[in-house]
Amino acid sequence: MIILDTKKDYKNHINLLKSRGEIISLVPTMGNLHNGHLSLVKIAKQNSSKVITTIFINPLQFGKDEDFASYPRTINKDISKLKKLNCDVLFVPKSQNEVFNNIDNLKHLKAGPKGSILCGNFRPGHFDGVLKVVYTLFKLTYPDLSVFGLKDFQQLYLIKQMAKIYFPKLKIISAPTIRTKNGLALSSRNSYLDKESIKTAPLFYRTLLDGINNLNNSNNVEETIKYITANLEKNRFIVNYVSFLTTELEKLKLNTSERKILLSSVKLGQTRLIDNIEFN
Ligand code: AMP
Repeated sequence: MIILDTKKDYKNHINLLKSRGEIISLVPTMGNLHNGHLSLVKIAKQNSSKVITTIFINPLQFGKDEDFASYPRTINKDISKLKKLNCDVLFVPKSQNEVFNNIDNLKHLKAGPKGSILCGNFRPGHFDGVLKVVYTLFKLTYPDLSVFGLKDFQQLYLIKQMAKIYFPKLKIISAPTIRTKNGLALSSRNSYLDKESIKTAPLFYRTLLDGINNLNNSNNVEETIKYITANLEKNRFIVNYVSFLTTELEKLKLNTSERKILLSSVKLGQTRLIDNIEFN
């Protein structure tokens, strides 16, 4: 695996790969890699001839009081995991300047109304920051395809919208959520959970599954949201939101054939958890 840490070396290497006609896939991450991230690399491998993973903790997507400083940094372990999967290139910028040298040039990247609902409502500016880094990585790489996790459904949705406008030839692949045996979606932030919370956390997903059953029986969205919220609160989750929408993040009408999704974000202690389930 070739490891590069400057924009200059990275661009040179991309040019070399392109001159050889390689099909390039890009897997952007913030590191502390777990099996969810690694599943994206495997999908990228199956769909391209050269896989590039990036590890960059993007300051623009963290709020003032969020965990940018304490976000887990495990670069040596990450490198050995990527080597085992035969990832071809790792770009790990040595400073923020290697990614963002002129943030003013990125002013036009706004997540818009669908970036202000759900997680965006609780993390103002978060998705603008996400789009700025993903756009910049796409510009540096011009990959043929890029893989993102469905766990971060709203993020994936907004990236697809952005890519449609600025990178129309780029294929975005949506990767299924990887979970522990008891259903907890893997996340770098799970490492913040203490012993007690690790036991409680899987109830988040189970409560959402139960909520979908409840909706199927009751056909009442408002009552089901109350039901899910009450069940989560019983188990000491602080609920940020529980929302039923279409997979276009539009208001849900029941009894239609539109794909539907239940999305939720909670806090368990100081740890933010997000999850979602698509259903018919
Ligand atoms: P992050 O490092 O949190 O920015 O995540 C990098 C990529 O990994 C994003 O596309 C996430 O959606 C994806 N990802 C994170 N957790 C999971 C998971 N449990 N299963 C699948 N993909 C995931």
